[in-house]
Amino acid sequence: MASKVKTKKTTKAKKKSTKSKKNDFEKYRQELLKYRDELKEAVKTHAASLPDTGMTGVSGDSSDHASADFSAEMFGLLLEKQAGTLELVEKALKKIDSGEYGVCEECGKPITAKRLKALPWARFCLDCQDKQDRIEQLKKVRRQFDEVTG
Ligand SMILES: [Zn+2]
Repeated sequence: MASKVKTKKTTKAKKKSTKSKKNDFEKYRQELLKYRDELKEAVKTHAASLPDTGMTGVSGDSSDHASADFSAEMFGLLLEKQAGTLELVEKALKKIDSGEYGVCEECGKPITAKRLKALPWARFCLDCQDKQDRIEQLKKVRRQFDEVTG
């Protein structure tokens, strides 16, 4: 009589919890790429349709001419703004590649996710952006002053 001893093997398959480093910046990259395409398209179409000869209106009213000038100026400003944003978007994409993304260029502190969500191409944290805005404002005032004084 042979008694078989059954050895119970408990195979506990320990699954390694793979904590994959979620690359949060990947979603910003997608966002930025989308913006880049949209801006490129917008700049292209706006530049092509920049009104330079004015409206083809038949009424020889001088106010028509003024409004055409005004819209051309507005177009120029819009174009300038879009081109500027496009530049920032390109820079942000490069920073994602180099691992510098999400850090304030001025003080080196991380830019909050909330801010990046609203402005994926943000270069500065809120505090530094505030300072930059004030500097820009001052520059603008000085420029206008120079224009007036010649
Ligand atoms: Zn900062």
